[in-house]
This record gives sequence, structure tokens and C-alpha cells, in this order.
Amino acid sequence: MDDSINPKKPILVTGASGYIASWIVKYLLEKGHTVHGTVRSKKDERKTAHLSKIQSKDGGKLKLFEADLLNQGDFDEAIKGCELVIHTASPFKFQGIKDPQKELIDPALIGTRNVLEAANRNKSTKRVVLTSSVVAIFGDPADIKGKDRDYFTESDWNTTSNLKHQPYSFSKTLAEQEAWKMQEKQSQWDLVVINPGFVMGPSLSKRIDSASVSFIKALVDGTYKSGAPELHFGFVDVRDVAKAHILAGFKPEATGRHILVAGSKSMMEVVDILKSGYNDLKLPSSTVPKFLLYLIGPFNGFSWKYINRNVGIPLKFDNSYSKKDLGMEYTGIEETLTDHVAQLKSAQLL
Ligand code: NAP
Repeated sequence: MDDSINPKKPILVTGASGYIASWIVKYLLEKGHTVHGTVRSKKDERKTAHLSKIQSKDGGKLKLFEADLLNQGDFDEAIKGCELVIHTASPFKFQGIKDPQKELIDPALIGTRNVLEAANRNKSTKRVVLTSSVVAIFGDPADIKGKDRDYFTESDWNTTSNLKHQPYSFSKTLAEQEAWKMQEKQSQWDLVVINPGFVMGPSLSKRIDSASVSFIKALVDGTYKSGAPELHFGFVDVRDVAKAHILAGFKPEATGRHILVAGSKSMMEVVDILKSGYNDLKLPSSTVPKFLLYLIGPFNGFSWKYINRNVGIPLKFDNSYSKKDLGMEYTGIEETLTDHVAQLKSAQLL
């Protein structure tokens, strides 16, 4: 069987109007591909207007389809004729969640099932690239305790998240596990998984609903003015994440899971980078001591369990497989963060 993707065939990108997917769509169009992008509502200009701008500038063709992750059969029309399926759509939020089952788990898990069932029904599907996350690899930084290394690799799985504790991470873990199960049950398409860390960098839209955008906005707009918790993250540039999806789609030999992290930083280390680039941001001035977080955390959405297993614990990843298998090269975190703030300013979001 010829397992290379025919570049002339359309490519399905689910959740095309999202923060990461918009960059994937842009790069695919720049390369002259035809993209079938799914959105929940074509009429929602606030979410889709930036896609029309990309479309008019770049070479390829973008056709939008309406599809909801929770509706069986919604992806059948969009996937027709596609050999490559890039499944990014899934809710990405940490705060304000009232019903984690309904808001996170169902769209992630049922959504993955629905997209992959559509891939099974579509006779041309050859490869699925799934946007998973590093949070399908670890639940809390404390998970590293007891391992014989101080960094996470693709061999690790998140076994500590659940509906009550880190439900977003739980949703990504269940969705990725389901994808691997469904891939094993058939032989028509293979699966390549992208596991990005915390994605930063300029957005192509003015949307602030991705937690990536709301996080950086809050860090610089005074929300943490009185202090930031000592939380550590593995960061990666949104443009690198988009490129990785395309490399994963078109490299026939690409296989398995791929951690995408350029490097790890604490919140105050991020603040130091931003301070050297800008002098007009309302940045946190210090780290909130852990004992104080135990007192105030529960009123600010941080449970004691979360504080105990996350605050003050370094987080490291091995990104070597992404370099070897996909040929990834990483943008420096300084450039990523500086570009992100520049975009927020030019979009008048600060
Ligand atoms: P985003 O901008 O919020 O994108 C989420 C996308 O999912 C949106 O396009 C949204 O559609 C779609 N979606 C949500 N619920 C849906 C539903 N019920 N039916 C159809 N579509 C639905 O966030 P993002 O950062 O780009 O995230 C994209 C993917 O990357 C997600 O799978 C996320 O878990 C993963 N990821 C993100 C990061 C990060 O730091 N950003 C890190 C690792 C992994 P609408 O446009 O209609 O709202």
C-alpha cells in the first residue's frame, strides 16, 4: 500500500478556527493545499472572520463545514475525499468549569470517537494526526516522584487525573487512549499523536478563549499583580506546534507520540523574560508563598491537592523524539513570549 499522502487531496482540520488550528490552516494554505475546516458555526464571525482573511491572502483553498464534536455523523461531509485528518478540536480550559463531564470529557472523548468513526467510514483516510497534550503524559509535576529520572518522556501516561482533580488533563488522556484503541482495531489509517506543552505565541484571531491566550493575558494585565504562584510549565511556540502537525501528516515514517516542548520555566521566569522586552506591563512582582496559597487558594480555584502536587515542583520533558522523528526545530521561549505580547497589544487586547 502506498502510504504517502497525496498533497492534491483535501485535508481535514477539525476545530479550524481555534488558536492552534488557525496556524495549521494558514501553513497548509500557504503550501497550496485544499483544507476542509470544521467549525461549530459558520455564522459566528467573531470566531471565523480571521479564517477568511487567511484564505484571501494565501494560495490554497479553504472550505468550511459545520460540525459539533458531540453529534455523530457531523464530520462525514467534511472528511469526504481526505487522506489526512488533523483532529485538533477539543475544549481547552482550566477555569470556570461547573460540569467537567459535560464541558470537557464528553466533547474530548465522544468527539474523538465521532471523528475517528468518520475516518473509518471515509474510504480515503490514510493518516490521522491527533492533537493530544503533555497532560496525557503526566497529571501533576509531583508524578515525577518515584521515577528514576527527573523528566517525562513519551513512555509516560497520566494516571493521576480524574473528574475532580485536573479534569482537563483527564479529558485529554481519555481521548488519546481512545484514539490508540480505535487505531488498533483497523488497518486503513495510522495514527500520529502530537503532545504539546503549554502553547504560547501570537494568535491569528482576537479570540481569548484558548487557555493559552487567557493565561498570558492575565499574567501581563495585572490579574496577578500581587503575586504569582510558583507553577512550572513546559512551553512551546504555536507556530512550531502547527508545523509539527504538518510534518506528522506528511512524513510517511512518522510514528507514535511526540512531546513538543521548547523548554521549561516558572511563572516568575516568564515574568523576567517579559520585563526585559516591555516596561509597560502589569506583571506580578513576586512569588506567592506556598503557605499563603493554602489559605487563599481554595477561594481562587486552587484546591489543596492541586497546590500540594503542583506548586514549587519543577517540570521537565525530553523533547528529543520530536527532533528525531519529525525533524522539529524549536523557537526560543523569549521570542515566543515577546511575539505573543506584541500581538495582544496590536489587537488591543491589553
Ligand atoms: P481553542 O482555541 O480554544 O480551540 C479549541 C477548538 O475546539 C475550537 O476550535 C473549538 O471550536 C473546538 N471545540 C470545542 N468544543 C467543541 C465542540 N463541542 N464541537 C466542535 N468543536 C469544538 O484552543 P487551542 O489551544 O487551539 O486547542 C486546540 C487543541 O490543542 C485542543 O485539543 C487542546 O486540548 C490542544 N492543546 C492545547 C494546548 C495549548 O496550550 N493551547 C496544549 C496542548 C494541547 P469553536 O471555534 O467553535 O469554539
